[in-house]
Amino acid sequence: MTAATPGLTPVGIFGGTFNPVHFGHLRSALELVETLDLAGMRLMPSAVPPHREPPGCSAEHRAAMVELAVAGESRLVCDRRELGRPGPSYTIDSLAEISRDLGPAHSLCLVMGGDAVASLDTWYRWRELLDWAHIVVIARPGWHLPADGEVADWLQRHRADAAEVLRRRRSGAVIIEQLRPLAISATEIRDLLRQGRSARYLLPAAVLDYIDEHGLYGERRGKNG
Ligand code: ATP
Repeated sequence: MTAATPGLTPVGIFGGTFNPVHFGHLRSALELVETLDLAGMRLMPSAVPPHREPPGCSAEHRAAMVELAVAGESRLVCDRRELGRPGPSYTIDSLAEISRDLGPAHSLCLVMGGDAVASLDTWYRWRELLDWAHIVVIARPGWHLPADGEVADWLQRHRADAAEVLRRRRSGAVIIEQLRPLAISATEIRDLLRQGRSARYLLPAAVLDYIDEHGLYGERRGKNG
């Protein structure tokens, strides 16, 4: 556990495949920035996700869509660091890099949805994540936190109140945040598009335009169709 350091600046890191990024990600990111009073949130697309099938859409396209989605909202930024690293995109490596880049005046908050946290024990060196960051778990619609087992015990053991820790410790706490539930998933968006249906209002229009322009996820459609 890290020693108490008053007055740290907390920064959020939201990793994912973002295939594609949607309003569930974006609204959650912004609400966390405001409720936890974070200096900003880095949306960090993974190049080669270690825990799931390769996304089928290039990391370059996924990052470009994140960049379009956050344009004009200075508190959200796209962090492309995993695109430049060969091999699987291990979150622990990114956290160590960001921690070194930002220096000792910052605390890091790694954001993950409830579904991601349920399989946390499959992540590379998962227990060490808390050596580099706090973990902020979003209670996501349709998912429940693990109720028993090793991950459940670990989450419970490190659970803390955000106001208590984010400015005082650089890492080591688990924070559970209930946000506005938005039952949007990238899987559903890809399915809609593959069926030639509209995904409008589930993700930013600029992202939908990009998808159309590049013929991602199925047939080309009309503008925002
Ligand atoms: P897929 O449907 O392809 O699995 P996804 O929509 O779950 O994609 P990911 O890129 O896999 O999106 O998720 C990145 C992170 O965002 C994960 O921690 C996930 O739990 C979280 N997340 C995804 N959708 C939402 C949502 N609607 N609300 C809150 N968090 C979300």
